[in-house]
Amino acid sequence: MKLCRFDGNKLGVVDGGRIRDVTDVVWSRLGTFSYPLPRHDPFIAALPRLKAELERAARDATSVSLDEVALEAPVANPSKLVAAPVNYMDHLQEAEEKLQEYYKAKVKTIHSVGLFLKATTSLIGPAQKVRLRFPERRIDHELELCVIIGRQADRVRANDALDYIAGYSVGLDMTVRGEEERSMRKSIDTFSPLGPWMVTADELGLASDLDISLQVNGETRQKANTRELVLSVPELIEYASRYYTLEPGDVIYTGTPAGVGTVEPGDVIEASIQGVGTLRVEVDA
Ligand code: MN
Repeated sequence: MKLCRFDGNKLGVVDGGRIRDVTDVVWSRLGTFSYPLPRHDPFIAALPRLKAELERAARDATSVSLDEVALEAPVANPSKLVAAPVNYMDHLQEAEEKLQEYYKAKVKTIHSVGLFLKATTSLIGPAQKVRLRFPERRIDHELELCVIIGRQADRVRANDALDYIAGYSVGLDMTVRGEEERSMRKSIDTFSPLGPWMVTADELGLASDLDISLQVNGETRQKANTRELVLSVPELIEYASRYYTLEPGDVIYTGTPAGVGTVEPGDVIEASIQGVGTLRVEVDA
């Protein structure tokens, strides 16, 4: 099932080129909240008990064309945006031994660098533009498969990780190059596009063999497959949750393959993941 948020916090089931509006069903089931508000995203947390009902409701729901709506990030309130640096092997057709060495070196790198966090205020959906804010500096696109956590996860083993995944989306880890900490350079407002919707985990499993690609103004810049991830989706969940509790709605940006490049005002980025869809965002000053 593909779930989206659109037009000011409406919730929908994507059905071909149309969105079935299930906002009322969701809101009637979320309950009321009082201070302190939950740390997680209540919609994502409720999904396991809502899913069958959403499928039923979608059949009779009014629908609107995808072309006519403003899509928002599929998660409204993540408590964390976790991100992985240096997490892809290159596509080099190297001798197996050399590749093995390269692989080990990369694993060492991500394990020595660790994961980082992006500010949740940097999150946007397809209807918003990436704003460069520091146009005099080099700013790159990074295409990333994103995992949306479905259940509270504390020290989860990789073998059990599937139980903790709500679904997947396409993400961009926009980056100002420079010497500052990653958490600062990658947390600028609008620097974490996510969308166009979330595909639930029952459709994609561990997302271990998906083609991913990115185009800028129609020119292909990045092209890879998630089987080339150094730390796989379950390994990333194990790694992150060893340090901190992952909450429903938390997003893991799983890292980018080769081919990152600069963007300028007026560019259109189209980031695609097999089985998920295409996130299209515009870049502006
Ligand atoms: Mn990245």
